[in-house]
Formats: sequence, C-alpha cells, structure tokens
Amino acid sequence: VAAADSVIADLTALVGADVVVAPDAHNVARHTRDYCVQGDPDVGLLALTYPRETRHVSAILRYCNERRIAVQPQGGMTGLSGGAVPMAPCVVVALERMRAIRELDPASGTITVEAGVVMEAVQKAADAADLFFPLDLGGRGSCQIGGNISTNAGGNRVLRFGMARDLVLGIEAVLADGTVIDALRKVIKNNTGYDLRQLFIGSEGTLGIVTAAVLRLSPKPRSACTGFCAVADYAAVMELLARVRTGFASQLTAFEVLWPEFYATGTSALGRRPPLELDSGIGVLIETLGTDASSDLERFERVIGAAIEAGIVQDAIIAKSQRETTELWSVRDSPGEWQRAGHWPQLSFDVSVPTGEIGALVSEIRVELARRWPGLSALYFGHVADGNLHVSVGMAGHAIPEFEIEAALYKLLARRRGSVSAEHGIGSLKKPFLHFSRSPAELELMRTVKRAMDPNGILNPGKIFD
Ligand SMILES: Cc1cc2nc3c(=O)[nH]c(=O)nc-3n(C[C@H](O)[C@H](O)[C@H](O)COP(=O)(O)OP(=O)(O)OC[C@H]3O[C@@H](n4cnc5c(N)ncnc54)[C@H](O)[C@@H]3O)c2cc1C
Repeated sequence: VAAADSVIADLTALVGADVVVAPDAHNVARHTRDYCVQGDPDVGLLALTYPRETRHVSAILRYCNERRIAVQPQGGMTGLSGGAVPMAPCVVVALERMRAIRELDPASGTITVEAGVVMEAVQKAADAADLFFPLDLGGRGSCQIGGNISTNAGGNRVLRFGMARDLVLGIEAVLADGTVIDALRKVIKNNTGYDLRQLFIGSEGTLGIVTAAVLRLSPKPRSACTGFCAVADYAAVMELLARVRTGFASQLTAFEVLWPEFYATGTSALGRRPPLELDSGIGVLIETLGTDASSDLERFERVIGAAIEAGIVQDAIIAKSQRETTELWSVRDSPGEWQRAGHWPQLSFDVSVPTGEIGALVSEIRVELARRWPGLSALYFGHVADGNLHVSVGMAGHAIPEFEIEAALYKLLARRRGSVSAEHGIGSLKKPFLHFSRSPAELELMRTVKRAMDPNGILNPGKIFD
C-alpha cells in the first residue's frame, strides 16, 4: 500500500491543492458510509479528491492506475447497497464539485450536466425551462446524476419514463487508465456499433467514472390525477392494471400496490386515518400525468368508475385537492416512518419477477417465513407494473441471522428467474446473492469486460463480484 503522504503530495502536484484533501477524523466519517452501510473508518483512505474538471479525474486515475492504487468513486452517498463505501485502502474521487449544468437544449429536449449535479437541481432546471426531468426518488435532494447513472436508478415513474438507462442519451466517462471517453451526443438514433454508454450505466463505478451526461427531458405535465383503489386479490390487481393501461395509455405514471400488512403499518400503526377500509384486500395507488386538468380528471373518474361497475375494484377514492393527493401518497411513502410504527430494525428486499408472478411470489414468501420463522412479520409493496416487489421483514426482538432469511427468499426468486436487485444495485450487500440472478456464463462475461476495461482492478474493488 502506498504511503498516504506521498500520494497526497503527488496528486497535489498533478491537480492542485484545492482538489486534494488529507483524510482526517472528521472527513473520513463522511466518506466511509452510505445510506445503508456503515463502513470501516480505519479502512485506510490515502487521499480525498474533489475534482472540478474532467481532466482532474483523468489525471487522478492515470496516476492511481500506474501505481495500482484503488479508487473509490463517490456521488451523494445515498446508495442502498454499500456501492460507494470503500472496502480497501484507496483514493476517494468524490464528484460533488463537478456540478455545472453545461447546456439545456429545448429543441432536442436535452440537458447536459456534470456528474455531481444533484437530481433535484436537474428537475428544477428543467422545470424553469417549462420541461420535465422524470427521474425521481426519495433521495432526490442528495443523490447525484453520476450516482443515478452508475446505479441505473429507478424510482417513482419507471412505468412511463423508464429507468436512468432510458434517459441517458450521451455520456462522458474516464476509464481506469485515465482515457476520457467523450460520447456526449444528443441524438436518439445512433446505431454505430456497440452502445458504449451502457457499459457505464448500472456498473456501479467498476468500469469507469462518469463525469457528465446528456439527459432526455419531456414536456412538462399540465395535470396530475391520483386515486386509491381497494381490490380483493392479486388477480384483481392484474385486471385493474390491464384496464388502466388501456384507459390511460401513456398518461399512466404510477401503479403502486400495497398489501394489507403494509397498509396497516402505513396508516393505523402511525395514527393515520386509512383512506379506505381494506380488510384483507390489496390497495392500489394510481397516478396519471396529463395535459388537460378537467378532461384528464373526467377520464380518470370514468375509468375507475367502470372498474368498480365491473366488480374489479371494491371501493375507490380519487383525490380532489393537493392535500388529498399528498395524503394518499403519504401512505405509500410511509417506509421512512416505520421506526415510529415499531417495524424496526428491518431487513429489506428489492426484487423483481415478471409482473404476473408477483402475487404468487408474495404467497410463497409468506408460507416460507411462517414455516421457518413463525414469529417474523413482513410487509409487502411494490411498483408491480415494473415487476418490482419490496419486502420488509421486521427484525425487532429476533436473533435470526439475516443471511439465512436472505438466502431463503432469494432461492424462491431464483426459481422464477427474478432479480435479487431490481433498483438498488449489488454493491457489497447483495454480492453473496448475485449468483441467484446471474448464470456462471453471465458472471464470466462480466469479469471479461471488467478485465478488459480495468486490467489492474483499481476501480471500486470488492463490489458486484470478486
Ligand atoms: C430515501 C431514499 C430513497 C431511495 N429510493 C430509490 C428508488 O426508489 N429507486 C432507486 O433506484 N434508488 C433509490 N434510492 C437509492 C439511491 O438514491 C440511488 O441508488 C442513487 O442513484 C445513488 O446516487 P448517489 O449519487 O447517492 O450515489 P452513491 O451512493 O454515492 O454511489 C452509488 C454507486 O455509484 C458509484 N458512483 C457514484 N457516482 C459515480 C460516478 N460519477 N461515476 C462512477 N460511479 C459512480 C459509487 O461508486 C457506487 O457504486 C433511494 C435512496 C434513498 C436514501
């Protein structure tokens, strides 16, 4: 391992004293934990670097590659799988000072931003130009575009606008040896060989450091309709999904399904009045974004009304004000309050299987948990139109090794050819379970790509796979 003093002196000579900071007790804490993983502050950080330009990133990587020094890319540290938490002595490359919005081009509907720009800042810049950046998730005030791209973030509107991958038209990234790949193109159609930008999207900083991106913008929605429906079972959820897909077409933006255990925790257990009586049924939160407030609401009421008449929906409530909209969403967004509801600590799962199989998977998980650990309670909710199910197992008062529960649930998933990580990436947390979702041949191909792009293994070592 290189001596920190000489690394700091060398990097300072290369990129300047304002880019390189010596680790100390205060700043090390901030750079060794993300939202879920508390790393080891004594892991051995050699230098903290805060590049302001792409050429700084390039110089730092070239230096580290020549000396086989590990590099830890870091964005807003909101990741949920430990991807940005160092596992070995390394130089940290934190992108937070690369926060310029380089260009907003209304004609092509694009915004070109540096990697350290916070998601919410992109949303606001688009809004100010009467446009819309649809990527949205709970960490919006802190997570950075570079982190969103590197984790292929999903969130609340994937059903309509896709994941981060679908919103990136062009990319600028620096390879392990310092080579800058400038692919900052604004075109949608570009069939000129391999789509290299995809190598950097979702690869969690293991193949290169993203320094800038061209993102797609959409026209700004002029209306939003929100409703909450009670249905009897998952078969009815699927019937309702088919109806709203046809009825709302491309306006359908959210279709969030809440099973009864989740609903009770997100309402009564938190002292919140349930919007509807659910009993043993399932709740579905539906949102559309459209272009005309009055005709969109009229259509929303008509489609949900028809589903009630057809016996698919047992009861429904449609928000008539921003306050009612917020109340409905607050039930879906209640996971942040679960500690208050006594559902804490929790073991959470973010998995995906084909949409039609989610109901059966929930039943199988319930049976498996009841059979092996009868005292455990679990909450189920998901963006089911994306095939994405979240399961939260309450661990209070239980000494069951988490690994055993994880292995049992992922085994059920593997039978359905699902994914152990729908949105949050593999990082370090999901590494032991990657084989449930990827074949040996797939894993070998990933290793081949990694070896080709980062032969010395300096980029984010220890993440995704060994
Ligand atoms: C309250 C809350 C709600 C969330 N909801 C969702 C959700 O609904 N959907 C979802 O998908 N995620 C969600 N997340 C997870 C998280 O916000 C995303 O994963 C986010 O995209 C990570 O961005 P970040 O800048 O914080 O990255 P970090 O946590 O800093 O890093 C994440 C990974 O990307 C790498 N990385 C970061 N920047 C770069 C770069 N410029 N170049 C190369 N590699 C880089 C890191 O090395 C690490 O592997 C949520 C998080 C929170 C806290």
